Amino acid sequence: LQAQLVPFKAERKQHEGVIIALNDITEQQDLIQMRQEFVANVSHELRTPLTTVKSYIETLLDGAYKDEKVSQNFLDVVYKETNRMVSMVKELMVLSQLDRKEPVIEFNSIDVKEVVYRSVNFIEPIKKDRNINLQVNISSENDDIYIQGDSNKLTQVFTNLLENAIKYSVYGGQVDLELSCVEKAVEIKVKDNGIGIPSKDLPRIFERFYRVEKARSRAQGGTGLGLAIAREIIQAHGGDITVSSQEGKGTEVYLFLPKVQEAHYVGAS
Ligand code: ADP
Repeated sequence: LQAQLVPFKAERKQHEGVIIALNDITEQQDLIQMRQEFVANVSHELRTPLTTVKSYIETLLDGAYKDEKVSQNFLDVVYKETNRMVSMVKELMVLSQLDRKEPVIEFNSIDVKEVVYRSVNFIEPIKKDRNINLQVNISSENDDIYIQGDSNKLTQVFTNLLENAIKYSVYGGQVDLELSCVEKAVEIKVKDNGIGIPSKDLPRIFERFYRVEKARSRAQGGTGLGLAIAREIIQAHGGDITVSSQEGKGTEVYLFLPKVQEAHYVGAS
């Protein structure tokens, strides 16, 4: 609580005194703290891969480059870490656009089926790498499923959900994507039989940079920003996203998107 005392003098003596103004600044302070934590997180998350890249390059420059096998290994690491930094910076740019409440979602009439197939194509290499059996089940295969939405942003969301289902599955695991149409909305479920999420972590996985196992996520190229962005994008479409999971058994992400946009502020978090 912020208090401000302002002396008050009226012409007639009996009205002399002070005005006390009380301001509740909890919200402002929360915002300042959130910003500070965010900047600290970004710096930390970028410093880790940068330190790795720097030390690998130093070792190469010190002579390790002469050994072909060693240099191949080192360059692989440098490439992987650089890719992770590029993804993180791209994701941070999307978040910053959403934070600035810019109208970043471009609404067009789009066929959700096409978005699903595009996302499935994107994840083909990692699916193959991990020998995952991906089953796509579209309940109304012959109908167009049109909604008002941003096809690029939704591709980013679906790709992220599929990537997570694959990344946090065992080699040779099963992933199911289900797309169905209800009266006024489209529903999507992405289900895996992977490692699952402990119940204590579940409420926090949509937070920026939150990861159940930092080391595992990092090794898979994860940034901890994917679900935070997914939720903001889906909410900006007037929809919502939830996750249910059982540790050791698997995870199911459920989301819905309204077919027609109600008049609501687009781009808000
Ligand atoms: P990341 O880039 O680390 O994958 P996300 O924001 O996409 O970040 O996810 C946050 C965390 O939630 C992940 O680090 C992981 O611990 C957990 N998670 C997300 N999806 C799944 C899943 N399908 N199975 C198990 N854990 C998951």
